[in-house]
Amino acid sequence: MAELFYDDDADLSIIQGRKVAVIGYGSQGHAHALSLRDSGVDVRVGLHEGSKSRAKAEEQGLRVTTPAEAAAEADVIMILVPDPIQGQVYEESIAPHLKDGDALFFGHGLNIRFGFIKPPAGVDVAMVAPKGPGHLVRRQYEEGRGVPCIAAVEQDATGNAFALALSYAKGIGGTRAGVIKTTFTEETETDLFGEQAVLCGGTAALVKAGFETLVEAGYQPEIAYFECLHELKLIVDLMYEGGLEKMRWSVSETAEWGDYVTGPRIITDQTKAEMKKILGEIQDGTFAKNWMEEYHGGLKKYNEYKTQDSEHLLETTGKELRKLMSWVDDEEL
Ligand code: NDP
Ligand code: MG
Ligand code: MG
Repeated sequence: MAELFYDDDADLSIIQGRKVAVIGYGSQGHAHALSLRDSGVDVRVGLHEGSKSRAKAEEQGLRVTTPAEAAAEADVIMILVPDPIQGQVYEESIAPHLKDGDALFFGHGLNIRFGFIKPPAGVDVAMVAPKGPGHLVRRQYEEGRGVPCIAAVEQDATGNAFALALSYAKGIGGTRAGVIKTTFTEETETDLFGEQAVLCGGTAALVKAGFETLVEAGYQPEIAYFECLHELKLIVDLMYEGGLEKMRWSVSETAEWGDYVTGPRIITDQTKAEMKKILGEIQDGTFAKNWMEEYHGGLKKYNEYKTQDSEHLLETTGKELRKLMSWVDDEEL
């Protein structure tokens, strides 16, 4: 069973006694920097020249410097820039300023797990990753609550890295909800697998295939959209609140029966065998290597896939239908 840590297990004074640099001020960065500051921690934000987030950070009362200055001043450096550019930011702005006893923190383990960042031996390497988007992390903190976090130590140079990670998690409200101990390997591999096989990849492919099946059989795209995409939210909300059991309690007995007999015909032993293969490619680094090559090669295939899907009948139908739903906030992306 997972090891859980709460407020009483964490000593806020540890992080209050350090100088923290939060590099990046996006979804996670803003939540960490603001909540640490409100927890009495000495925080500066490191942002690149011309950063769009700079004005916001300054407006919110934070001191902004370059990533290199922030790393030089601080002894705890939390890297919250997009994963594919962390390696470059680390090499250029952080590595030259690392001293023995400093701590390098992450919100996701990819760059450490696959060796794109190799910190020196004298530095603590830890992760504090809230299990929710940054805006929820910040809002919960302000309301006196917190979003559960996971925490891990990859390198414990000082012998105090986990206590420091728990203290940091307390500073952003994580220990109010509960912090689960994990490892960089477990966090990275399960995060990548979840988003590829189930949350993003699996779900998008399921929705598209269902929609196409109905449209190809002659049903109207608008009706197919409602059945295969729109109503998914209702189902997911029920699962989120009470697992499969609450979803099945809420839907009709007919839907529940269909769930039992048809679900296993869609997700078959063959699908699960493919999932195992996908997990293998994550574990052996093939996925990370290919993704970094695609990213640094100018995102050619990525943009092709993106355009293809934006022109899919599912998407063009949805765009029109959502105009009928005043409560749905379909902002221009
Ligand atoms: P975002 O894309 O929301 O924000 C990235 C930030 O980094 C922006 O402020 C951006 O500035 C800034 N930035 C970009 N380039 C540089 C640079 N060269 N130097 C300094 N700052 C730079 O990132 P996320 O918050 O989504 O992700 C950060 C980390 O947190 C990742 O490791 C991610 O895996 C992890 N994470 C994210 C979660 C989420 O909910 N989003 C959940 C848990 C973990 P600008 O505004 O100018 O672009
Ligand atoms: Mg992820
Ligand atoms: Mg129905």
